[in-house]
Amino acid sequence: MNNEIKSFFEENSIEGMDMNTEIESFFEKNSIEGIVFDLDNTLIDTGTWLIFMYKRFATEIVPYINRTYNLTIETDDFAQAYHQAEVAQYYNNGSVNFITRFPSTLSWITTSLNLNIDQEDILKRFTPNIAEIYTLSPDPFDGTLELLHTLLSFTKVAICTHSGKDWTKIKTDSLKSRYRKLYKNIPDIYSYYVDINKPKNTSEWIKAANTTNSTPEKLIAVGDNFDADILPAVEAGYKYIIWLSLYDNDKEQDIKELKKQGVKIAIIKDIRELEKTLTSNQPFGDI
Ligand SMILES: [Mg+2]
Repeated sequence: MNNEIKSFFEENSIEGMDMNTEIESFFEKNSIEGIVFDLDNTLIDTGTWLIFMYKRFATEIVPYINRTYNLTIETDDFAQAYHQAEVAQYYNNGSVNFITRFPSTLSWITTSLNLNIDQEDILKRFTPNIAEIYTLSPDPFDGTLELLHTLLSFTKVAICTHSGKDWTKIKTDSLKSRYRKLYKNIPDIYSYYVDINKPKNTSEWIKAANTTNSTPEKLIAVGDNFDADILPAVEAGYKYIIWLSLYDNDKEQDIKELKKQGVKIAIIKDIRELEKTLTSNQPFGDI
């Protein structure tokens, strides 16, 4: 721990110092050189933000549909159908290509709400509205900035995200500027992005590890998506895996199987649990 941070804790929080020392000693004891986070739905609350964006699209699209096709669709119904289409078709692969899938999303909504509309017309008019997603950033989860601050005081932190170059920059800039507001300096975070048209797979998790000049065997991986984060990180050989399972855990059998194979994996429901999990007696004990 560097002196500046040490004195911050000495002046401000004895408790903080204790927790900080505990997590630092967990890293030291287990020869862990750093931690690699997924970004969306792990450090930033993309899920909640997207629901807000679907609502915004609905308020833009629905008045046009109602007027042009003489319908009486409610914006809330359209927004909900948009969300359901996204979850049903794309959540599992962790992809964020909202533009190329807009045709199939719209087709899903059209069927679900039984709309008699010209889909080509809607696509032509409203695809630029969908593209607005890539100009904005979701907010960090409560506890993210504090967690990063703790970790950055003694270890390397990297992000492995599936957002493409430009959107990744918008999101990491937003995260950094919030961090700077709170702690008066810019966090030194390694960042690795996967092109949105490519899968986020094992080799991407290895490349993300390499940005820290370390290897997966000496790092912790944290992510929310079982197929795009957890399984590839396991295969990449990360020393410890933390699954941030935001929704129902429907992977109990898979987790048991991984543990049987010797994979050290822990499940949390909230990013604020991470520090406590790592400093508990048996963070990766049997389930
Ligand atoms: Mg994610």
